[in-house]
Amino acid sequence: MRERSGRWWVSFQLEVDRAELNERRRVPGNAPQSGIDLGLKTFATIRDGDGNVEEIPAPKPLRRALRTLRRANQKLARCQEGSKNWHKAKARVAELHLRISARRTDFLHKLTTRLARTKSAIAVETLNVRGMAVNRRLARAVTDAGFAEFVRQLEYKTAWYGSRLWKADRWFASSKTCRPCGRIHHGLVLADRVWTCAGCGVLHDRDHNAAGNLLDAMLSDFALGDVVFAGKFPGDVKRLAETK
Ligand SMILES: [Zn+2]
Repeated sequence: MRERSGRWWVSFQLEVDRAELNERRRVPGNAPQSGIDLGLKTFATIRDGDGNVEEIPAPKPLRRALRTLRRANQKLARCQEGSKNWHKAKARVAELHLRISARRTDFLHKLTTRLARTKSAIAVETLNVRGMAVNRRLARAVTDAGFAEFVRQLEYKTAWYGSRLWKADRWFASSKTCRPCGRIHHGLVLADRVWTCAGCGVLHDRDHNAAGNLLDAMLSDFALGDVVFAGKFPGDVKRLAETK
């Protein structure tokens, strides 16, 4: 099938026994448990229980494509509506949108599949959309980065491969809580990549500390959950304790 934009689509069907495939790809029980902090520049900071930290940069081609899209949109705005050039510019914008979303989808799928297959438990933050609405540019950037889609994919893929996904309470202060001493650093702003705790003097990498806090919160929740809700999947249980 050929689209007006000149893009070709090929469709084919593949029969897969999902259950059997998942069983073969099942995550090993001793695989690391990880906390994941999401960000715009470093898309994901992944901290394992053994202290290993992996940083996944946001895909650069995406950032470049967004710049191109911005320019194409400006061009479209300058064209006389309905004119030949306007139609051309409009088709160009549509094509760029498609290309960007394809790249983002590819990046997210590769990452979430790898995580769901190599981590036995994954802690992520719940995005505070209401808080972000105050800053519309930030909210837009977060939407563009695909955080919600990242979590959505992790949700079903962890279920496929027998891993666990744990989501923090949306008010959990993962970034500004000092992991070693628990003191909350109220002055933290988005631009601060590192900060020093006034309580214990530790110099923190913001994202590494946040990922560690998410990991700790998940592990203590699992510990509580096993006692109070024996047999129940801890991810379904509302967190009992406030910020730890
Ligand atoms: Zn401290």
